Amino acid sequence: MKKKLILFNVILTVVVLSLMFALGLAVTNSNNTALSEKKIKELTAVYCANYSPSLTFPADGDVRVTVIDETGAVIKDSLKISDENHLYRDEIEAAANGHPTVYIRNSDTLGKEMMYYAEKVQTDTGYVFVRVAIPTESIRSYAVKSVAPMIAILLGVWLCSVVASILLSGVLLKPLKQVRENLVEVASGTYRPAVPATGDPDINSILSAINDLSEKLQNSMLDAQNERRKSNYVLSNVTDGIAVFDKDLNLVIANESLKKIFSVTAPEGKHAEVLTADPAFLSALSDCAEKKTDAIFPLETEGRYFLCTARYTDSTMIVAVLSDVTQTKESEKMRLEFFANASHELKTPLTTVKGFNDMISLQTTDSAIADYSARIGKEIDRITRLLDDMLDLSKLENTPLKPENLTQVSLREIAEEVKEELTPLCRQKNVQIFTEGEGSVNAEREHIFQLIKNLAENGVRYNSEGGNVQISISADPEGTSLSVSDNGIGIDAANQSRIFERFYRVDKSRSRATGGTGLGLAIVKHICELYGAKLTLKSKLGDGTTVLVRFPI
Ligand code: ADP
Repeated sequence: MKKKLILFNVILTVVVLSLMFALGLAVTNSNNTALSEKKIKELTAVYCANYSPSLTFPADGDVRVTVIDETGAVIKDSLKISDENHLYRDEIEAAANGHPTVYIRNSDTLGKEMMYYAEKVQTDTGYVFVRVAIPTESIRSYAVKSVAPMIAILLGVWLCSVVASILLSGVLLKPLKQVRENLVEVASGTYRPAVPATGDPDINSILSAINDLSEKLQNSMLDAQNERRKSNYVLSNVTDGIAVFDKDLNLVIANESLKKIFSVTAPEGKHAEVLTADPAFLSALSDCAEKKTDAIFPLETEGRYFLCTARYTDSTMIVAVLSDVTQTKESEKMRLEFFANASHELKTPLTTVKGFNDMISLQTTDSAIADYSARIGKEIDRITRLLDDMLDLSKLENTPLKPENLTQVSLREIAEEVKEELTPLCRQKNVQIFTEGEGSVNAEREHIFQLIKNLAENGVRYNSEGGNVQISISADPEGTSLSVSDNGIGIDAANQSRIFERFYRVDKSRSRATGGTGLGLAIVKHICELYGAKLTLKSKLGDGTTVLVRFPI
């Protein structure tokens, strides 16, 4: 900037001065020429007026007077007589034509540039031409003489201009230099006091605007640094693993906990595969990126269990949070084991009690004891069913689906099995089960059996004498549907949303009387959730109930 300013000033000064110099020379030269022309014409007029053949001319070095006769021969010359014929010289021809004109050209006789002018003079014998010539060097002498001082002036001005430019640019650029240093320091985050004002009000207004700006910049940078420090603090101290992926699943941010979970050091910038090769984790993340949806899925790595919550954000990033659920998982496992053991422990004495009870009922002749024994038997069966249902529910809640256990299960086949198993109950209640349609799902056989059995059993249990239960199956390219519908007692609207809760029964005594545990629909709901199936209930009090399960493909 400084160099440019100096260079510009110097060039401008030199160009302007040179132009002025050239213009001055041209004007002076033109004036001198005009004066010389006037002088030569006046001299010629004087010589012509006084001409006589005997007239002699003074040998003045500056003025040459020549007399030329009609033939062009030089008859007199104040300096040097030439032998050449002068009739066709420009000034002689012009005088002969009656239009005397001034000419400038090199003189062959004198060997230098001269200004010529001639006029025709009448004599007694005819006429002659009186020609006056003056050297042009006297006209140009001013210009020649002025070149040296002009160059000296030019050099002097150029030197002054360089010095002045250096000083001026120093003064002008000093505050700007300070502003630059100030901004550099603001950018590096160090505090810098405002740039002091100068004597120039224009520069001061710019400086004050820059000072304001740098102060605001400084404050926002400090704010941003503080915020960054805070989020870094949170990110590095939070126990959950946090990862931010771009849409191509490259890691943008990974906190310390995440690096520890996957035992990696610098995963940033690398693909999610750098963390784990677990196909479920990777496909859940790519699903998230492709479908632009959120996802929650489990992950097991290095003997620890995590629940991963992946969120697809507006900025096309995926934020994944991995919460360590190992402890919960282990306590659930312990609870499940406890359940399994407890129910086993309970069922063993129950079997014995049931055995003895059966013996009593067979051996007694007392009708009252036989009645008590039948009731005890019913209650033992109910406790056994309750234990079985609780165990099933607990298993469903704690055991994720394993791909190796999934097979293509025919819903119709299972429906027939269920129908078979429920035959005694159907006979007892005088209810008929009908099956229709075909369709299969990729699932654990036991789960589908539990699902259809619970729904069909309810259809029979909460039915009226002579009622029907219809199990319908259908399949289309989008999925498979199972509907279990009965023409039984139905459920009122107020209870419809609650019957999937554990132990919720519309009519407790009826449920108990029919052998219900209050867990059947809770098990159905869990199985549907496991397979991503949609569960819908339609029911009208007194008309019957339809439960529809829709498995996605
Ligand atoms: P339960 O073992 O008592 O049948 P469920 O969870 O299977 O437990 O059902 C919960 C309650 O929902 C039942 O007690 C009953 O009141 C009601 N219910 C379930 N299915 C039907 C149905 N098909 N018709 C009428 N009510 C039903």
